[in-house]
Amino acid sequence: YPHPAVAHEPVIEAVASKLRGEGLHPFHLPQAVDMHEGGTCIRCKTCDGFACRLGAKNDAEVRLVDPALATGNVDLVLNTKVLRLLTDPSGSRVDAVEVEDDGRTRVINGDLFISAAGAINSAALLLRSANDKHKNGLGNNQSDLLGRNYMAHNNTAMMAIHPIRKNPVTFQKTLCINDFYFENAVRPYPLGNIQGLGKLQAGMLTARVKWAPEWAMGYFADRSVDWWIMSEDVPDPENRVSVDP
Ligand SMILES: Cc1cc2nc3c(=O)[nH]c(=O)nc-3n(C[C@H](O)[C@H](O)[C@H](O)COP(=O)(O)OP(=O)(O)OC[C@H]3O[C@@H](n4cnc5c(N)ncnc54)[C@H](O)[C@@H]3O)c2cc1C
Ligand code: SF4
Repeated sequence: YPHPAVAHEPVIEAVASKLRGEGLHPFHLPQAVDMHEGGTCIRCKTCDGFACRLGAKNDAEVRLVDPALATGNVDLVLNTKVLRLLTDPSGSRVDAVEVEDDGRTRVINGDLFISAAGAINSAALLLRSANDKHKNGLGNNQSDLLGRNYMAHNNTAMMAIHPIRKNPVTFQKTLCINDFYFENAVRPYPLGNIQGLGKLQAGMLTARVKWAPEWAMGYFADRSVDWWIMSEDVPDPENRVSVDP
């Protein structure tokens, strides 16, 4: 990495030290934030789950899309849904896309197409693009794997609450544990990853649990260390993306 790891704050450093004492291997979570000497990130409390008002998250928009648009060589077409990829008559090459915008359907031709519509919608697009040469969806004639073995992240937010001691952390999401990522001798399947969650605040909890009083949620949030537990589906051919005929 070009920059040093994002440092733990004291509470998280203490947790990391205790986990190491238990024989685990916690490490610094790699972060795509511009947090380094001379960087634009101010290490604030509203990173996880919020847009950055300083443009200090190194996401696709900040680092790629906006600079590409600034060259003047790129057109970004908004509010346009790709319906199907269209192949040449031989079925060996995609030479156009059919799109829908403002209720109109039109075709855009091109030399090169990249499908980057996400795990579900890329598969759905290829399935929708079935034609005479690709009856089960583009590129799916032989394997029938298109859209199958979908592996979702089954996420859990966990609060570890100390009844009295406060957690004054600002930027909590610096710690990561992969000790349970893979299968092992007692478990023939992987479990996933555990990482720090951006510090939970009272309003985030009352947004989910409407009946909960703000003062009580504030009490818990002030005293919790918060975790994001990202367990994963194991591959199953029947856990799949499909499209209506
Ligand atoms: C709640 C949440 C939290 C996450 N947190 C993290 C994190 O902390 N760290 C991390 O590393 N990753 C995180 N991820 C995962 C990360 O966001 C994804 O892995 C990443 O965004 C995938 O990028 P992508 O470009 O492949 O697809 P996407 O970002 O999903 O982009 C696909 C785009 O295609 C568009 N699209 C889909 N179908 C069509 C169509 N037919 N026509 C036109 N456009 C279409 C969609 O509108 C979308 O803009 C998180 C994901 C979620 C949902
Ligand atoms: S939102 Fe995140 S990237 Fe932006 S300043 Fe705050 S901590 Fe830094």
